[in-house]
Amino acid sequence: MFPPFTLRYARFPDRLRAPARPVPVERPELVAFNRPLAESLGFDLDAFDPEQAAALLSGNALPEGAEPVALAYAGHQFGNFVPQLGDGRAVLLGEVTDRAGRVRDLQLKGSGRTPFSRGGDGRAPLGPVLREYLVSEAMHALGVPTTRALAAVTTGERVYRRVPEPGAVLTRVAASHLRVGTFQYFAARDDQEALRLLADEAIERHYPHLAERDESERYLALLEATVARQAELVARWMGLGFIHGVMNTDNAAISGETIDYGPCAFMDAYDPRTVFSSIDERGRYAFVNQPPIAQWNLARFAETLLALIDEDRERAIERATEVLKAFEERFEASRLRVMRAKLGLATAEEGDAALIEDWLAAMQAARADFTLSFRRLADALDGPEGEARLAEPFGDREALDAWLSRWRERLSREEADAAELARRLRGVNPAVIPRNHRVAEAIAAAENDDFGPFEALLAAITRPFEAPTGEVDYTRPPRDDEKVLRTFCGT
Ligand code: AMP
Ligand code: MG
Repeated sequence: MFPPFTLRYARFPDRLRAPARPVPVERPELVAFNRPLAESLGFDLDAFDPEQAAALLSGNALPEGAEPVALAYAGHQFGNFVPQLGDGRAVLLGEVTDRAGRVRDLQLKGSGRTPFSRGGDGRAPLGPVLREYLVSEAMHALGVPTTRALAAVTTGERVYRRVPEPGAVLTRVAASHLRVGTFQYFAARDDQEALRLLADEAIERHYPHLAERDESERYLALLEATVARQAELVARWMGLGFIHGVMNTDNAAISGETIDYGPCAFMDAYDPRTVFSSIDERGRYAFVNQPPIAQWNLARFAETLLALIDEDRERAIERATEVLKAFEERFEASRLRVMRAKLGLATAEEGDAALIEDWLAAMQAARADFTLSFRRLADALDGPEGEARLAEPFGDREALDAWLSRWRERLSREEADAAELARRLRGVNPAVIPRNHRVAEAIAAAENDDFGPFEALLAAITRPFEAPTGEVDYTRPPRDDEKVLRTFCGT
């Protein structure tokens, strides 16, 4: 069933990874399988058998040619450096080359203890597994670089957190699992040989055009390319009201993909200070802090590369600092592009930034729903009824009307009629996101063996720009009694 494996990490020197077999589970049952993704990865689906798939995707059986390993990494968690983390509840089966010729890691998450488990049980509860499945697949459908979810298997075992919960294993697909924390692990041990190997691996897998560069430029260029990808990534999060929730350096991927969906959530009412994670007491990873935190994480990455960037440490710091500073400009440019598109603007004008900020300020003042307000901009172009829908949450109609007339005036300089503009807007502002209350609902039902709500939500969020037609209204924000105010890591 599996495509052939390549074994890049498995061939790494011992100190970069530890062999780690998945620990078998009692009664594996396949509860979700991503067929389109499997197809794109080159799986043989004619030979697909759910029982065999459950065995392979729980780790009870190993696919042919897999040599599972757990990877070493370190990381700053909420700003504090932890020199040893590593895959404590995940094993990497190996990599496959997908139909587009791209190398992709296949990892089982929740597959039992590894040499990096410390005090943990190496397991994952069903709730966080389904949450990652839903949110990562939504991000992909929304066009955001992200790891993907290939499958979810229940284990027939309980895991003990605050209360006993059903256990599960997620199969995650990633461009790679190289994290800022991977580099930090070896920098903390002053292992320059490992750092060079990791940097070359990152270049080969994510930035192959840099391999041609002279050694004196190659690693600074790696930093620069990673800065650019992260700036673009966070700009896209900001355009969707997405809050990652645990932007620790071990959860920052060199590939520029969103990775590690723990207490992540999409905002409902717009407030830039929003925090969901129960463990983020000081709001370090609040919505508005995400760009500076990404830059902070990149600075930690830069520190690990200094000896590769320049033999002269002072000069290396100088060169790296300049590249890091460029994050702000890159981020602002990406964000402006993203937000312009969200207002239907394909051209650029001086006043656009102010138009965007004033719209956000109006939403914030009204505590209007982020996703729905953007979506309804298109409705406002359809006619007065649509405009009334948009205006619903805005108490101050006068202020809103003033903004709307500025916006319409600006739109008049776009070479597009109202219908075309509305079409544009509906193509970038989603109708459906995996709202917290819907995710919670789907998880609660699945914990009682009813996967119907999970499947219905998955179907809706994987077509985020279409107005859904089913029974449940996935576009509406939560009522007061449905609001989920806290999210949990689930580790
Ligand atoms: P995370 O918060 O998911 O980014 O994980 C941080 C670190 O804790 C990583 O090294 C994980 O492998 C480890 N970890 C989280 N949950 C568990 C668990 N249940 N068992 C063992 N290690 C875990
Ligand atoms: Mg992590």
